[in-house]
Amino acid sequence: MKLQTKGDIATLLMDMPGRNANIWNRQTLDSFSTCLEQFAEDDSLKGLIITSAKASFLAGGDLEQIENIASGQQNAAELHAKSGALSELLRRLETCGKPVVAAINGTALGGGFELCLACHHRIIVPSAKVGLPESQLGLIPAGGGTQRLPRLIGVQDALGLLMKGNSLGAKQALKLGVVDAIVESDGLLGAAADWLSGEPQAKQPWDRRGFEVPGGDMTGSARNTIMVATAMFQAQTFGNYPAGKAILSCVAEGLRLPIDAALLVEKRYFVSLLLDPVARAMVRSLYLDLEAAKKGARRPSGVAPNSITDLGIIGAGLMGSGIALVAARSGLNVVVIDRSLEDTAKAHAYVDRFFGKRIAKGRATQADADAVKARIVLSTDYADLSESQIIIEAVFENREVKAQVSAAAESAAPGAVIASNTSTLPITGLAKAVSKQQNFIGLHFFSPVERMALIEVIRGEKTSDETLAMALDLVAKLGKVPVVVNDARGFFTSRVFGTYITEGIGMLGEGVAPALIEQAGLMSGMPMAPLGLADEVGLSLMHQVGEQTKADLGDDYKANAAAPVLAALVQEGRHGKAKSSGFYDYSENGGKRLWAKLAELYPSSAQQPSVDSLKKRFLYAQALEALRCVEEGVMVEAADVDYAAIMGWGFAPFTGGPLTMIDQLGAAKVLQECEHFANTLGERFEPPALLRELAKSGGKLR
Ligand code: NAD
Repeated sequence: MKLQTKGDIATLLMDMPGRNANIWNRQTLDSFSTCLEQFAEDDSLKGLIITSAKASFLAGGDLEQIENIASGQQNAAELHAKSGALSELLRRLETCGKPVVAAINGTALGGGFELCLACHHRIIVPSAKVGLPESQLGLIPAGGGTQRLPRLIGVQDALGLLMKGNSLGAKQALKLGVVDAIVESDGLLGAAADWLSGEPQAKQPWDRRGFEVPGGDMTGSARNTIMVATAMFQAQTFGNYPAGKAILSCVAEGLRLPIDAALLVEKRYFVSLLLDPVARAMVRSLYLDLEAAKKGARRPSGVAPNSITDLGIIGAGLMGSGIALVAARSGLNVVVIDRSLEDTAKAHAYVDRFFGKRIAKGRATQADADAVKARIVLSTDYADLSESQIIIEAVFENREVKAQVSAAAESAAPGAVIASNTSTLPITGLAKAVSKQQNFIGLHFFSPVERMALIEVIRGEKTSDETLAMALDLVAKLGKVPVVVNDARGFFTSRVFGTYITEGIGMLGEGVAPALIEQAGLMSGMPMAPLGLADEVGLSLMHQVGEQTKADLGDDYKANAAAPVLAALVQEGRHGKAKSSGFYDYSENGGKRLWAKLAELYPSSAQQPSVDSLKKRFLYAQALEALRCVEEGVMVEAADVDYAAIMGWGFAPFTGGPLTMIDQLGAAKVLQECEHFANTLGERFEPPALLRELAKSGGKLR
């Protein structure tokens, strides 16, 4: 970091060497502090501009350092001594006696935005975002964010931002009052200097006499807001997320105190979270593992990077159109092939629908939509695929149709990688349709493609390193997160995720009350209840997949407890949400109610199991299947299970993923409980050998 001076104005330019983005760590804190003291002590300097030399402003705290601190078995006193440096520095900044302005030249998140909040004035460029995403990783802002934000914009709006952790665009930030002005990049530093040369305030509102929290303080309306927010948070998260509770406590307790004492309250709650397993689990799986995956941790090292410009897609249905949209938005030239030009038109209609909503909200223009559509060429002629470096087939889930289009794609572009978006058909078998099987791979996108970040990359028996590297380069180009798995029935995601739904449907057959099943599913931390989720997937589709698996496996087929229930519902004409009738009845206004006849078909037993035992069954059923995937080598790396489970189907994020959950609970305890379930409920809970070994050795999976 450097302090530059021009006349009586100093500029602190943040430019961390050797990194794409600035972050807070020991070195940057020290160097910032040195610059600040230099500015504060130099009487010839009247004002300070803080800005960054990188594309972003400052990305936040060093989470690797935080994870190290948290995972080293430290006690509260040690952690207390190590925390708080940022908070103290920012307090020094805002009380240095001279005006400071943040010239926010790019996105400022977490500790970066806390720096902005400690400045006396904030000017932002139109493209930058600001936010405090700490709660998404089980943490809270610890640089004064929980105290300055409610004092700046009031408790209600501040809680919305702190609890959800969403970021704000410049316009929204201005509307909420978290920034003071929006200025184009080329005028940013000039606008900051102009503010300093006016009559700038060098004292924060909360340090001025007679300060009042906007919208009311804890003696009035803020108290009610906190009470309502606490009740809502509990109802939505069932006590699984200590960070949300800590934010509510910080705001409620801190607002009764002067700012210096309030900052100490924040620090105490931050330390309590570092000692809690949830933050450690979430930081590792949802930040460190995820970042590693995005940077290509599983990319074969010997293969040179590919610059991908041209993508082919066969099948303009729900998936093909979604992939075309995402690819064109990433700047790729896309050719979409279908059986007729009318069929291909679905790809352009998909783009129109996507942009229609954004244009209505003022978040995009018709020109944006037209530019994306112009990159998607519609055709029925395979010759148009000749330039494609990768061709993804997303036609019907039918072996013969897939074989035919894959062979045609290979003839049109003999050197291209051919990828299948199949959700169930083994990749090694599909690869036999082409002559160069080494060029064939699975790329399993999830629906809706534009929202789901994970892509399951499936290596067939003959897939080459070059093909895998090309597929991973495409995933990176699309801005998505890959998980690399080996070919096996259901791959990784569908196989493990299916056990959650199966367990829920099986419970119904056992006589567990449907409302209890649904509530226990949500309380276990899953984003949707299992019977409602089954309706979304489609009961007839699940029934058909079960029947197909039975036919494919013959004597090896093991019946599951859900199969007879599914067969019975389909027999009753209950096909799922798409037909407005499944485990639930759906009304036209979007409401739903459990189907009344369920009680007759599956009467609830007089003695109902405890919620706790049901929650465990939901999470253990998935964790054991994930362990089997590790044992059988379906997972290329065990370390990928956790982030993939959370990103892929929302496995209870507070656990840090199935393997971290087993490690944190202890393999011996999980083994004992699964043995009990195996004896009482069936062999699906039979512990894999890996779990037995770990329980014996006291080792960990990760
Ligand atoms: P869809 O029925 O919406 O679309 C399939 C498209 O393929 C249609 O436009 C159809 O006209 C076209 N098509 C069929 N035969 C063709 C041929 N011979 N030549 C050219 N085009 C042909 O299906 P979808 O939901 O988009 O699924 C496509 C694939 O993606 C399937 O393999 C499915 O298993 C898989 N998948 C689906 C989902 C999902 O949620 N829908 C998720 C992941 C993977």
